Amino acid sequence: MSMVNGFTPDDAARLTEQERRLVERRERLLGPAYRLFYERPLHTVRGEGVWLFDEQGRRYLDAYNNVASIGHCHPRVVEAMHRQAQQLNTHTRYLQEGILDYAEQLLGTFPSDLDRVMFTCTGSEANDLALRMARHYTGGTGIIITQFAYHGVTGDVAELSPSLGRGMVLPSHVRTVRAPDAYRLGADNVSALFEADIKAAIQDMQAHGIRPAAIVMDGIFSSDGVLVGPAGFMAAGIAAAQAEGLLYIADEVQPGFARTGLNMWGFMRHGVQPDMVTLGKPMGNGQPIAGLVGRSEVVDCFGRHMRYFNTFGGNPVSCAAGKAVLDVIQEQNLQQQSHAIGGYLLEGLSRLAQRHACMGDVRGAGMFLGVELVTDRVTRQPAAEQARKVVNSMREKGVLISASGPLENVLKIRPLLTYTQEHADMLIEAVDTAMADIG
Ligand code: PMP
Repeated sequence: MSMVNGFTPDDAARLTEQERRLVERRERLLGPAYRLFYERPLHTVRGEGVWLFDEQGRRYLDAYNNVASIGHCHPRVVEAMHRQAQQLNTHTRYLQEGILDYAEQLLGTFPSDLDRVMFTCTGSEANDLALRMARHYTGGTGIIITQFAYHGVTGDVAELSPSLGRGMVLPSHVRTVRAPDAYRLGADNVSALFEADIKAAIQDMQAHGIRPAAIVMDGIFSSDGVLVGPAGFMAAGIAAAQAEGLLYIADEVQPGFARTGLNMWGFMRHGVQPDMVTLGKPMGNGQPIAGLVGRSEVVDCFGRHMRYFNTFGGNPVSCAAGKAVLDVIQEQNLQQQSHAIGGYLLEGLSRLAQRHACMGDVRGAGMFLGVELVTDRVTRQPAAEQARKVVNSMREKGVLISASGPLENVLKIRPLLTYTQEHADMLIEAVDTAMADIG
């Protein structure tokens, strides 16, 4: 499977001797499934705040990594982990207060009916657990996802991830619906299309004797091409699915933890009520911690019949990291900052689109932005090659973004939540000059 912004062996001529040796060693030791970003892969050795540094000491403005969302190597997180690692690091089969303090604080950010939390190490595990719970609760197997979804790497959730590549054949219990492509389908249409697609998917499952269990949606539709969608568009479709007995699993691995602006959770933009929410990536700012938040009725139904133990999930060091992240977001009001700087970026990039004809659509919510490149604004012909060039040109200029989407033509921009206006200006300027470079 190729990757939009991926290094290929054809690019090897651009590498220094040292880089070539590292690439060869990786391939020999790790095999071909791993991918590197950029035509000239970046050899990172250090991170601090919004910056990544390469082995020569050159700094790069990070506008991509939503794991270190509150800043690389954040001192509060490092200190919390260090303190806890010196004291105790075991698992969830002993009484400990840290996990409970964190659980209370985390649940406090959700609507009150989402009142249980369980901890895992990765977003994939959280989605996998959510699927098991949905199937247990409903007695069904059928799942609805979007056409170019990504939900993770376990066997079950890879089957819900058509964006993994042509090798990923969808099983018979999975149905897809269109993502909210306001640019190509029309902003006014996406809500009705979403609802109609969901109803059709449910009917089709029933016609084939498949009992539906859940609808799983990444609320920012990241792998589908950063299809933010108009606020509220999901409400009718999700309500229709829930009326048919499906559980709604909001995959917040991408949009969660203030990424989409004022709301802590992406689903809140749409006024929908998930039955389960899965969390990951920025939850520990780099420490592997992820989790599932759900309605007690669903979580307890599973727990009464099945025990769950995840050796590293919810360990004291991970919980200390998670708590430090939440403290920083709340104390520094990063939701407000994500909203304000994200809005500033959206405006700045939209202004650039008036000058660069190739920028067909600029969209975003908070600090998650997509710029769709086209070769022709009327026909909206996707400009995948130009997207690749812009991403690589920006990397050379010291600003890190990537590209995504089924048409491989969407610049994917996820600045750190701690960006100031000065960082935003640097990012806008880098997009401007990279767009000018490709003509
Ligand atoms: N869901 C979504 C929407 C994701 O983007 C990802 C990771 N890219 C996952 C789930 C899986 O998370 P992890 O890589 O931590 O298993």
